Amino acid sequence: MTAGFPINPDPSGRRRVEQGSHAESFMCWTCGSCDAQCPVNIRTNRIRPQKLVRMAYLGLLDELVCDPEIWYCLGCRCCSSVCPNRVKPVQVAAYARMEAVRQGAVSRSVRDGCRAACIRLQYARAEAASKFMDGLSSDFTCRLPPFQARDKDRFARASPANAFLCFNCSECGSACPIFVSRRVFDPQLIMRMVQFNMISELLKSSMIWLCIGCGSCTAACPQKVDACGIIRGLQKTAVLQEAVDPDFTSRFIAVEQSIYHRFVANVDAVLGFHAD
Ligand code: SF4
Ligand code: SF4
Ligand code: SF4
Ligand code: SF4
Repeated sequence: MTAGFPINPDPSGRRRVEQGSHAESFMCWTCGSCDAQCPVNIRTNRIRPQKLVRMAYLGLLDELVCDPEIWYCLGCRCCSSVCPNRVKPVQVAAYARMEAVRQGAVSRSVRDGCRAACIRLQYARAEAASKFMDGLSSDFTCRLPPFQARDKDRFARASPANAFLCFNCSECGSACPIFVSRRVFDPQLIMRMVQFNMISELLKSSMIWLCIGCGSCTAACPQKVDACGIIRGLQKTAVLQEAVDPDFTSRFIAVEQSIYHRFVANVDAVLGFHAD
């Protein structure tokens, strides 16, 4: 006989999760794209959004609320935005967390502790990016011509000129999972700096490297400003124009790996798990 544990699908549990999360887990065809896009999974292998969706589909609500993976989720929506079937793993995780608190599986203070770990993660990333920018030439000047409001590419998505459509409503900041403080990172502030043609300053700034490319800002913008594409474009330009040293991205990726591992360890500590 094969060793293992039985899985008992629960149709009523499936209905409850679906009604609570609206994640449409029944549409999942297990392609794994969400796993490949999840920033926490990529760096730590400790959360699999596809698995959470599978559990939701099987109606395993009791198991979901006790699964520590729901607390490793940053709520960044990278999984949902990449899903070809419009399944929303992020909403399964959010619903399971809410249920975990409601059912008393975890206390409110544990929930708040996990939230605080998410915030600390972003501060740690900001600090690492900022440290890696130190020592760069301070007289760096962008070689691009100034972006004009009447640029012929004004309506082209991902063109910095597209930022001129921004009317500063703050929706992008509200949707951004990295936004913990305006001083740390704010897509609205970056769009404002593009409007003021502060491209050189942005290319030298560690801020642009904090964006994880989830696209939530672009999806939330009523003006169809593609802040995600613009910030990605700034990152590419910073490398091409040597505003950062050639090793910057590989060093930042390496340090992020350890920062994300520390984040998961912090969440484990809040949940009461201890390393052997
Ligand atoms: S990306 Fe969508 S369809 Fe693919 S495994 Fe994830 S939830 Fe399922
Ligand atoms: S919301 Fe982000 S962190 Fe959470 S499962 Fe999806 S991709 Fe991973
Ligand atoms: S959501 Fe769009 S219009 Fe609003 S601040 Fe952000 S970029 Fe500007
Ligand atoms: S893509 Fe937009 S919402 Fe996502 S991290 Fe970058 S700025 Fe924030």
